[in-house]
Amino acid sequence: MAQLILMPGKERSAFKQSHPWVFAGSVGRLEGRARPGDTVEVLADNLRPLGRAAYSPQSQIRARFWTFDSGESVDDAFFKRRIAAAVARRQALPELRGQQGMRLIHAESDGLPGVIADQYGDTVVVQLTSAGADKWRQAIVAALVKATSCARVYERSDSDVRGLEGLEPTTGWLYGEAPAGLPVIEENGVHLAIDIEGGHKTGFYLDQRDNRQLLGQLAAGKDILNCFCYTGGFSLQALAGGAAHVLSIDSSGPAIARAQANLALNPQLPADRAEWQEADVFLALREFRKAGRTFDLIVLDPPKFAPSAAHAERAARAYKDINVLGCRLLKPGGLLMSYSCSGGIGLELFQKIVAGAAHDAGRAARIVRRLAGAADHPVALNFPEGEYLKGLLVQVD
Ligand code: SAH
Repeated sequence: MAQLILMPGKERSAFKQSHPWVFAGSVGRLEGRARPGDTVEVLADNLRPLGRAAYSPQSQIRARFWTFDSGESVDDAFFKRRIAAAVARRQALPELRGQQGMRLIHAESDGLPGVIADQYGDTVVVQLTSAGADKWRQAIVAALVKATSCARVYERSDSDVRGLEGLEPTTGWLYGEAPAGLPVIEENGVHLAIDIEGGHKTGFYLDQRDNRQLLGQLAAGKDILNCFCYTGGFSLQALAGGAAHVLSIDSSGPAIARAQANLALNPQLPADRAEWQEADVFLALREFRKAGRTFDLIVLDPPKFAPSAAHAERAARAYKDINVLGCRLLKPGGLLMSYSCSGGIGLELFQKIVAGAAHDAGRAARIVRRLAGAADHPVALNFPEGEYLKGLLVQVD
């Protein structure tokens, strides 16, 4: 096994905080040969062993630790253990037990850098985003099948971040056969078909499950605007919760079509209270303002405006813009449910942006709840970067 020896002092983040990343600038030298994804032994400058990591020569994140135990082999059995443990952790949480749609592996936060696995009924979708994860594809799939007894596994490794690791996009069935139709999950009493091959990410935004449930609890009798509705997850929970009217907006025609199909999967819901609009939210909100239209509750769940800290400034302006407009369109006492899933925008900054937005809109407002991702998207304490989704429920005077 090749040895990756760090620069003096650069062992601290691994040694003191168990942080799983080794940045290119921390690397002193590589002794021996290693190809992308190969396991290397990581050592401090004084040759103290730090653990074993996946080597990624093209990435700024030059190595990702699989283990901080230099005696632990990274082999098929390693993935069986780690994946079984990730599944068991979720089974141990009553709120997750029995969920049909669930994230099984949340990458670094489950001790498996670059590995994402989402379950939709008896279908599991994997996304491999690092050279190390890519290398262990077969072991990962075998371990997932063993831990879940799922019928099929589909790979959706077409995320842009693979490019940073020098990996090509790849998709396809890795185990079992393509099902006849789309997998359907039940989430808090609502049925949703998941387009695993053509949808965003692995097909659905499982991280918002609890927040969609909260919307359902807040919705009774309200006139609701759901911005960036994707396939209707929030909209359908609002209808189930007794909303008077739900106007849902997304710029993607296929997402709106899927949302409407999802509504049709739920004949118990009042379809006549749902209105769908294919539009750019930035423009639509301005149109509502001009028309004097107001709402009791507005959901803002935009896409990642800041994929990294480098985009934070432009992203902050975009978040501010929609939040100002959102505040202006609320009736007195109205609720703004506002999210950011940008890793580059921290919780504190996001709160400042929303505060600035309320101020600019001339509305006094208070946080009544802080919102985050669901429990199947845990944030490992040694990996604060895993906390990408944050939200605020704000009541506006
Ligand atoms: N709330 C959704 C997830 C939202 S994902 C859920 O719970 O499932 C973000 C969505 O924003 C995507 O569907 C994307 O098509 C849409 N989108 C991106 N930019 C947009 C824009 N400028 N206007 C409207 N929709 C946009």
